[in-house]
Amino acid sequence: MFIATPPARAQSLPAPEEFLGFKVGTDKKLARWDQVVDYMQRAAKASDRVRLMELGKSTMGNPFVMLAISSPANLARLEEIRANQSKLAHPYDLDEKSAQQIIAKDPAVILVTCTIHSTEIGSTQMTLELVHRLATDHSPYIDNLLDNVVFLLMPSVNPDGQVMVVDWYNKNVGTEYEASPMPWLYHKYTGHDDNRDGFMLTQIETRLVTQVLYKDWFPLLFLDEHQMGSNWARIFVPPFSDPINPNQDPLILSEVDLMGMYMFSALNAKGYTGVVYGEQYPYWYEGPAKNGGWWHNIIGMLTEVASARVASPIEQERGQLFRSPGARGQSEGPGFGGGDPRKPLPPPSDTWQRANYPRPWLGGTWKLRDIVDYELTITYALLEGAAANREMLQQNFYRLNRKAIEAGKKGEPFAYVIPGKQHDPGAAARMLEALDLAGVEIYHAPAEFEAEGKKYDAGSYVIPMAQPYRNYAKDILEPQKYPMKPAGPGQAPERPYDVTGWTLPLQMGVEVFEVKKPFEAKLDRVSPIPMPGGGISSKTAGGKNGGTYLLSHDWNNSAIAVNRLLGKPGQGEAAFDVYWIAESQHDGAKEIPAGTIVVRPRSGKDVSAALGQIGREARVTFTPAGTRLDGSAWKLRAPRIGLYQPWTANMDEGWTRWLLEQYGFPYTTIHNDDVRAGKLGERFDVIVFASQSKRGILEGLRGDWVRPEYRDGIGEDGSRAIAEFVREGGSLVALDEASEFAIDALGLPVRNTLRGVLPDKFYCPGAVLKILLDNHNPLAYGMPEESSAYFLNSPAFELLAPFTENRGRAVARYPADNPLQSGWIGGPEYIEDKLGAVEVSYGKGRVVLLGFRAQFRAQSHATFKLLFNALHWSAASQARIQ
Ligand SMILES: [Zn+2]
Repeated sequence: MFIATPPARAQSLPAPEEFLGFKVGTDKKLARWDQVVDYMQRAAKASDRVRLMELGKSTMGNPFVMLAISSPANLARLEEIRANQSKLAHPYDLDEKSAQQIIAKDPAVILVTCTIHSTEIGSTQMTLELVHRLATDHSPYIDNLLDNVVFLLMPSVNPDGQVMVVDWYNKNVGTEYEASPMPWLYHKYTGHDDNRDGFMLTQIETRLVTQVLYKDWFPLLFLDEHQMGSNWARIFVPPFSDPINPNQDPLILSEVDLMGMYMFSALNAKGYTGVVYGEQYPYWYEGPAKNGGWWHNIIGMLTEVASARVASPIEQERGQLFRSPGARGQSEGPGFGGGDPRKPLPPPSDTWQRANYPRPWLGGTWKLRDIVDYELTITYALLEGAAANREMLQQNFYRLNRKAIEAGKKGEPFAYVIPGKQHDPGAAARMLEALDLAGVEIYHAPAEFEAEGKKYDAGSYVIPMAQPYRNYAKDILEPQKYPMKPAGPGQAPERPYDVTGWTLPLQMGVEVFEVKKPFEAKLDRVSPIPMPGGGISSKTAGGKNGGTYLLSHDWNNSAIAVNRLLGKPGQGEAAFDVYWIAESQHDGAKEIPAGTIVVRPRSGKDVSAALGQIGREARVTFTPAGTRLDGSAWKLRAPRIGLYQPWTANMDEGWTRWLLEQYGFPYTTIHNDDVRAGKLGERFDVIVFASQSKRGILEGLRGDWVRPEYRDGIGEDGSRAIAEFVREGGSLVALDEASEFAIDALGLPVRNTLRGVLPDKFYCPGAVLKILLDNHNPLAYGMPEESSAYFLNSPAFELLAPFTENRGRAVARYPADNPLQSGWIGGPEYIEDKLGAVEVSYGKGRVVLLGFRAQFRAQSHATFKLLFNALHWSAASQARIQ
């Protein structure tokens, strides 16, 4: 008998318990990211089954790592396996025989990601035990898994948050503030929304995961391990629930079912209670990275385990079987029902025994170790499912990719065309970049062509549908029609899990044409997508005019250039004078619209070199003015911006901050104390409140378990200080929900017409709506008369007579017929002809209420300018330009 001896070097990997000094999942003990990475490095060194790759650095500079775990034989030909996987993913000229050879021979490549949401801390901890066993256990069971699977593992896809949450927890554990929630976002900019960036791809971490999925590895399966609230089931496993999205192939859904059942069975085999599937998490939304797999022929999956209180156990009162599943309402993440988190939770409200929840959780103690155990079980189950179905999964992956190509050749649609000439070419390029990063194949037309009787200029982009990621491109580019089930009389409609529509061309103000029938054109593949060039245009209508340059206000990137030209607030004299012209003028035959940006050097020196540099960096083009300008204008100076940051980790604040940094707006973050201290006019020209409830702004978090320095909101003192700031000449910008605070705090003559309207009458939980703009108002300079805005349970306004004369102005209005463009709206008549954005004078100052999400998850490029203009306008003075 041959007894295999494990390689000596594998024995040098210490067990996690030895390495950490405690067993993984021990109450109140956590491994921090640096320890996790250290352990994985040791595993890679000690074992010929483990490779560690650093894919890059996170937003805050932590290592972002992935392991490849497989048999030594597979790892020896890892690059070949990767290349073969790419062939199956793009089977254009792969002959059937070669495809079948790959399928017969190659292991299944699968990806598991952990702890994108940093308080959902269990899965990162779990990976230590998982990797240790895979590296050191030489049983036939593990050998079989590793022979048949290449297991890609990311121990956390948000390392920064892991560090923040562990440090915060360790600071408070054992004190009276052990349950105090972390007062800032667990991703620098996006917080919990780091899992809503799957198609816009603004953040480093999302881009790294996307690169692995659609450019480098093309895994067959992708599981993202999460945690949910603490008071319902113990674990959710796939399949998911309705609604399904029409652009998903049913084969993907059935494979999700199959893999979900491996997990369901494994949990039942262990006798674990509280296992549920098929509820709560739908197949609809594109935002989470793992969802994106459904449109990329990848089996995207999610698990959600009940949370402890980070690493502290939770007690729940015990309940009885067969309580109605009526009101579940658990949101993702550790929820404590709003009460004192130190008290036991009330008994579970859904204990209805049913086929997809056969052993309901009835309450008791729940610990970090329980989370680790459930997650180990489902991760091994996934490996088993992938190993057992290796060939079938490969075969189906290959078939789906071929099927998408064939479907696209037939047309309906055949292609999407993005004309080269756009209102904002930077936004168009950014949209194409997002698609390119997600693996969509994009082509450039070097010459003009015709499709379905319409001529397209040279320089247009074409996305043919005959490609593996057809379903994805189509789903991002076309309007969504959300299948809302009709509600009974007087009943509120079903609440979608997330938003209902996302169509990027609408959100970004990019013109895109769907072409149904096949056509021919000369096309060149482009990747990466070139961004628009910039500098100084050599074209002038007439002669030069004293070094005066014009810059279009249509481009969002012009804000970057303006911020560069204005310099930092309060830091001496800028080298340029910058104006917005207030009335349209003519430059020869060309109209210069109101809002056009005029740039003049302060000294008589030739500034073309400096300006050219700014133009290239901002990707905008300055045009020398041909004729003499004459008329009224706004003269800009660098605005002093205060951005309010509550201690309640507001994601919309994070997105706002991200956007300000991307477009070069200098800002100061202000907290409750800064607001309450008053005299805000000495420090700021404009104060921005991101979307937040009035109560949240005024009261913040209360409760003696909250660390005292992070309790409360701005309070009545803060509210008065804001009113005084505006009365004396400041600008207040309130986004979406924060407008209620602004209206009430200042007693503005504005009414939110949707206040108190119940969801059975009006309901719009995340959709793209049409808006009409007054682009002669400086707030809407550079915007077309019709555009699209993102509406998410937002307010809509009415200006109250008789106070409105000379006080309030409508800037954006919803049309008089149904404004819905993508997603779902119930009761559109409640919003028809109402206002989406208004400007109100108050004392010597101004209030700007942007009712919709002007900067929604950094996607809504079509309305960024409303925010940018509000900021620049706050420090502008009336002038005459000659
Ligand atoms: Zn989560």
